[in-house]
Amino acid sequence: MAFTEQELQYWKNHYPLLHDITALHPVFWLNPQIKQVQNLPSLAVNKTDIEEAEQLWRRFIPFLQQAFPETNGIIESPLREISSMKEKLTNDFALPFAGELYLKCDNQLPIAGSIKARGGIYEVLQHAEKSALDAGLVTKETNYAVFASEKLKSFFQKYSIGVGSTGNLGLSIGIISAKLGFHVSVYMSREAKQWKKDLLREKGATVLEFPGDFSEAISKGRQKTQENPLGYFVDDEDSKHLFLGYSVAALHLQKQLDEKQIKVDHEHPLFVYLPCGVGGSPGGITFGLKQVFGDHVHCFFVEPTHSPSVLIGLLTGEKEKVSVQDFGIDNRTAADGLAVGRPSRFATSISEHLISGIYTIEDDELYKLLFTLAASEDIYVEPSAAAGLPGPGKIAQTTYMEKHNLNAEQATHIAWATGGALVPETDRKQFYEKGRDLMESSR
Ligand SMILES: *Cc1c(COP(=O)(O)O)cnc(C)c1O
Repeated sequence: MAFTEQELQYWKNHYPLLHDITALHPVFWLNPQIKQVQNLPSLAVNKTDIEEAEQLWRRFIPFLQQAFPETNGIIESPLREISSMKEKLTNDFALPFAGELYLKCDNQLPIAGSIKARGGIYEVLQHAEKSALDAGLVTKETNYAVFASEKLKSFFQKYSIGVGSTGNLGLSIGIISAKLGFHVSVYMSREAKQWKKDLLREKGATVLEFPGDFSEAISKGRQKTQENPLGYFVDDEDSKHLFLGYSVAALHLQKQLDEKQIKVDHEHPLFVYLPCGVGGSPGGITFGLKQVFGDHVHCFFVEPTHSPSVLIGLLTGEKEKVSVQDFGIDNRTAADGLAVGRPSRFATSISEHLISGIYTIEDDELYKLLFTLAASEDIYVEPSAAAGLPGPGKIAQTTYMEKHNLNAEQATHIAWATGGALVPETDRKQFYEKGRDLMESSR
């Protein structure tokens, strides 16, 4: 429920940044609660959990190879240096910075075409494994190619999976669940893109549409799914499994950095910019990266000016207890995966002490960045996925480097491109043209 004028005044007096946030101005916030890794309180997950998640992915390689021949059994994306984009950020966006700029191309992730392939597919695989282990159909030593067999498919037919989604999570859960043989229902907000609904139905998922935003679709879905004793609900607002699925990305990124001989240590800081919705994917990846690189990695989240849910949750300390709507913010943004009014309970309680900060960005800026990335690097992403690109230039405008005694010249910056591969050609063209027109009119 929205706060009264008086209550809002109280919050704004305590947290003056809320004046700009509620006026929908882009802001840059540094997290006063960040702790050095050695001083962290005990968290709900640990390094062993990530390693076990990695092993589960490994067990499923033979299944993924068989069910999705376009993959090699591994769901990963390239890390690409984007120096032309760096030049454009300097010249066309007035966002110069020192160090190298890379793009983590999760826009190319197989199967789901977005970062949701990491968390969503992981959660369904762990549920499938657990169900099959409990029924005595497999052991952890079995060759998991058997998960592609008719026998297991018919076993999973009596199980159902539900998920509430603005789109990308639904795609990832829907596609993998249907492939395994589960009966899967995706609860979507009515505004979700038609092509996403069509694609899901084509893959064998049931799509149910609800008016209002994502949170309502989630509560309806949770309730309906749990009416079936063999029902399993993937809860984006509170999921440890999604979180762990995302966290494995850190182990793979470490390998990719090694292969490129990119050092990460006190002399060579690593900066990562992660588009943020409920905070699960950026939270899981940040958690993983902190386990791997400790205090040498600096993680920033990015949210749309109209959906700053994690920012408000962390700034006020109220986390999932408040929504952007409580503060009179409308949660309307073209950044599909980021249009979230309330943060994840599970993820936010962990990110609270790990992230360096959050900045917000306007939709028009996303289109301009999307266009510029396509024009300069021939990489096509969806609007949400462009949000990390201005990060390095924004840091350079602050005293962050000096304050932390960091060598900016030797920094590596990674913008996490979180989605795009499944966007149909017509939408892609529209995004691109919109960005081009905005660039031209701002010259
Ligand atoms: C879901 C999504 C995100 C954010 O992930 P959360 O776990 O919701 O924070 C970012 N980008 C895209 C394209 C997404 O679909």
